[in-house]
Amino acid sequence: MKPVLALVGRPNVGKSTLFNRLTKSRDAIVADFAGLTRDRHYGTGRMGQREYIVIDTGGFEPEAGEGSIFREMARQTRQAIAEADAVIFVVDARAGLAGQDHDIANELRRLGKPCLLVANKAEGMREGAQLAEFYELGLGEVIAVSAAHGQGVRSMLDRALDALGLPEPDDEQPAQDEHSPIRLAVAGRPNVGKSTLINTWLGEERLVAFDLPGTTRDAITVPFERGGQMFELIDTAGLRRKGRVFEAVEKFSVVKTLQAIESANVVLLLLDATQGVTDQDAHIAGFIHETGRAVVLAVNKWDAVDAYQRQLVQRSIEARLAFMKFAELHFISAQKRQGLAPLWGAIARARQAAMRKLPTPQLTRLLHEAVQFQAPKRSGMYRPKLRYAHQGGMNPPVVVIHGNSLEGVTDAYKRYLEGRFRKAFDLTGTPLRIELKSAR
Ligand code: GDP
Ligand code: GDP
Repeated sequence: MKPVLALVGRPNVGKSTLFNRLTKSRDAIVADFAGLTRDRHYGTGRMGQREYIVIDTGGFEPEAGEGSIFREMARQTRQAIAEADAVIFVVDARAGLAGQDHDIANELRRLGKPCLLVANKAEGMREGAQLAEFYELGLGEVIAVSAAHGQGVRSMLDRALDALGLPEPDDEQPAQDEHSPIRLAVAGRPNVGKSTLINTWLGEERLVAFDLPGTTRDAITVPFERGGQMFELIDTAGLRRKGRVFEAVEKFSVVKTLQAIESANVVLLLLDATQGVTDQDAHIAGFIHETGRAVVLAVNKWDAVDAYQRQLVQRSIEARLAFMKFAELHFISAQKRQGLAPLWGAIARARQAAMRKLPTPQLTRLLHEAVQFQAPKRSGMYRPKLRYAHQGGMNPPVVVIHGNSLEGVTDAYKRYLEGRFRKAFDLTGTPLRIELKSAR
């Protein structure tokens, strides 16, 4: 689970600028989920081996009236803090201490989350005198940064991550093979029918009771079995058991969604037939794609649309989710329990494809056949020479191709190779990555 850092502070102190630094630094994997919530931005970033999620509260549009601005801001801030493992409290070194800073500091003290006090816009300032007043906030050391110029940001980030006392990430994934439980995340924007589907599935199951407190750090998984296959459903919204049904504690949690997707083998992405593919759907799909997880697409509420609307939905999927063409597409009604049984097979196939072993001799033979059928175009002085291929990873499968002058291989040619590999190994349900390693 990636740790979650929330940026809080009054307007104009530079939170958005800092957010951009933290998510778009040179070695950051960038994913900005601006489209997921109206008023909070989520992004992921990485420094060295350490990955994190950042929440920025700066993006909301204040409504008319002073009172409502502050109320809305306080609400946003509180929600971001609740989701975070640590808070970065930003103040403005140039403007100095403001009354609102005291209010935020009080709130932070009350909530007791690890907190870092950061004075932004401190470029060209001598630390001592000008920053001294911020010690009044009683939050300990003031860390001077300049988000705009990138000064002090790295060491601040180091401190924030250190404050969490997390173990250094290790690359050791628990060994997964075709017999281990399939880790499944049901993802989708609010109201697509995730809870309805999960209750339809699990309502009939005799489940291991689970009613753990849902902090952001704990991924709660619900184990269950279908047709001899074990599954672990990864919670995306703080599921609680309430009598016979499950209830989402939070209606929609971006952080839990991102974390569930990352720790899944297969993501079942739900769409809503009555809405087609929306921006939010496309954002979530984009994130899933970035993580390389296997995917099954299911269009829910199929019962509620007529033939014409069905066509529109199918077209919007072709247009907006073209990058997920590898995924099986199913049409279901969670409410009317229609079309649900085939999902299990699709999920199992997607996992199998994601874990497929691609033997080196076969890959290399396929590579040679593909080149013989259609050679890569000459680029500059040299024609790329593709020599041999081996598998570089699973879930998603990675094919590493070795050769010479591979910089000249075009994206179109990579897609051509991908198509040949996909066909030979039946990789429906999983993305496939191709890496080129040039000897020269
Ligand atoms: P937010 O409302 O807290 O998200 O603040 P913004 O990130 O939108 O920044 C508010 C203003 O401060 C913008 O005009 C920024 O260009 C400026 N700003 C942000 N960081 C710095 C900085 O490190 N130094 C200076 N001088 N200005 C900054
Ligand atoms: P979630 O926010 O993704 O968990 O969505 P919910 O499961 O809470 O469902 C949102 C709304 O869609 C509820 O009013 C459900 O009754 C309705 N809904 C869910 N599945 C279906 C379905 O298959 N068909 C129809 N017509 N409505 C559905």
